[in-house]
Amino acid sequence: MNRILKYEDVTQFDQETDVVVAGYGGAGGCAALEARRAGSDVLLLERASGGGGSTMMSACEMYLGGSGGTRLQRDLGFADSTGNFRNYLEACFAPNVDAERMRLFTEGAAAHFDWVEALGVKYKRGCFEGRDVVALTGDSLQYTGNERAWPFTDVATPVPRGHLPADAGHEGGVRFFTALKARVEEAGVRVQCDSRVTRLIQDRSGRVCGVVARSAGQDRKVRARQGVILCCGGFIMNEAMTRRHIPELDAIATRHGNPGDMGDGILMGVAAGGQAINMGEAFVGIAHYPPPQLTFGIFVNQQAQRFVNEDVYLARLGHYAAQQPGDRICMFIDNRHFDRPAYLKVDMVAVDDSVAVLEREAGYPPGALQQTVDFYNRHAARGEDPLFHKARAWLCPLDTPPYALVSYRLSEIRPPVFTLGGLDVLPTGEVVDPERQPIPGLYAAGRTVAGIPRNSKGYASGMSVADVTFFGRLAGIQAARQPRC
Ligand SMILES: Cc1cc2nc3c(=O)[nH]c(=O)nc-3n(C[C@H](O)[C@H](O)[C@H](O)COP(=O)(O)OP(=O)(O)OC[C@H]3O[C@@H](n4cnc5c(N)ncnc54)[C@H](O)[C@@H]3O)c2cc1C
Repeated sequence: MNRILKYEDVTQFDQETDVVVAGYGGAGGCAALEARRAGSDVLLLERASGGGGSTMMSACEMYLGGSGGTRLQRDLGFADSTGNFRNYLEACFAPNVDAERMRLFTEGAAAHFDWVEALGVKYKRGCFEGRDVVALTGDSLQYTGNERAWPFTDVATPVPRGHLPADAGHEGGVRFFTALKARVEEAGVRVQCDSRVTRLIQDRSGRVCGVVARSAGQDRKVRARQGVILCCGGFIMNEAMTRRHIPELDAIATRHGNPGDMGDGILMGVAAGGQAINMGEAFVGIAHYPPPQLTFGIFVNQQAQRFVNEDVYLARLGHYAAQQPGDRICMFIDNRHFDRPAYLKVDMVAVDDSVAVLEREAGYPPGALQQTVDFYNRHAARGEDPLFHKARAWLCPLDTPPYALVSYRLSEIRPPVFTLGGLDVLPTGEVVDPERQPIPGLYAAGRTVAGIPRNSKGYASGMSVADVTFFGRLAGIQAARQPRC
């Protein structure tokens, strides 16, 4: 598909505005609102029949901190310095860290929380200190996964940073988007749904000065005097792209997103001269908890070897599980700690009073599982995990028979996957070419770009929505600063 229409070939525009935003999800809604508040006339085009995107489907957990603590963290007695926040995030994504983006985010995240709260999103002054993917207690603050796990504990003091709308559980996205939508409407942003942006209009100098949007079978040409902001989400629903960029995950994934995650923004941005980076990285999650006591178990690969500390967030487990040989990892656990995972359907490989019998039934090399379990138990009894440094709180010898070996076969679990690659942009949202020169008039944010979260290994709940809303705002502000032409 030709994703560029030459400006010189346009005889007449159907509509005109200052800023066009393509995609009305978290990034697009925030970009449009900030551009409008800065005085621009804004047209928001959304391909679905209503806004929301994956942001509305999400729990809308936002990973925020720094500046001494967000208002919520401080109200609950948690201090969080910008340096501590930054050390943690850099450890998550090193070496793939955009230093300026990281600086802006870690310095601005606490104020971003105030902005979100001022939209009208309610946050309850309660902290859930247990271990769950999303707190179901109604509390608005929680640890989201890796802060209390090695190696992150070596570089940063653990602080809870997951910010959840009050009493919303997994429905936080609806609360957030309802508030955002009300503010977008009040501000006077024009919203047109059932309008898929299919092409960018670009002039001879390279400036992007409008879009073509397909609506009710008609192509409409829209002129954008200040700029176009691409906020079309990621590409997890585009099978040709996932086969190409994340082939191993393509084969096992449950595609985690909305039907609009077709990579339109990335493809249009590349056609205009931008470059796509980090395209081989994606979130892949294996929800091995709740219940939390499963964290006492140990995961082994096909060679009966451990490969990760089990107290990590589900995306870190997903990352390491996907790197293991074969398709199956197993949890070894004893009767004292066994329970069924809340979010996964898993099968028993074997249950027996003898580790040797489990080992045989699973087809491991003779002695391999016994050695792994003996080594683990010996050290766990002393509160140590010399191989992977699982936190003391989760260390207990697995010595109460019967024992179970539980199969986590990736092709059966089909873990949720969404993409973390996209356009290379400056932190202000300006889309850049391979020489990192901005393409005039073109901006992008959200999962259409490579943002703060850049791999599954360091990802923890809340990092995507925090990133898309924070940098969506910056893109809107930047576009609204441009002279009208
Ligand atoms: C079930 C679920 C739970 C999640 N929970 C969390 C969580 O709690 N915390 C967290 O950080 N992350 C979470 N995520 C991930 C997170 O929700 C997304 O990564 C993030 O919301 C993406 O935001 P976005 O603005 O980039 O895209 P979206 O919010 O998906 O918005 C993109 C919009 O663009 C539209 N669009 C696409 N193409 C076009 C086009 N060509 N023209 C016009 N419109 C177009 C789409 O229809 C969509 O409305 C979750 C994801 C899912 C699926």
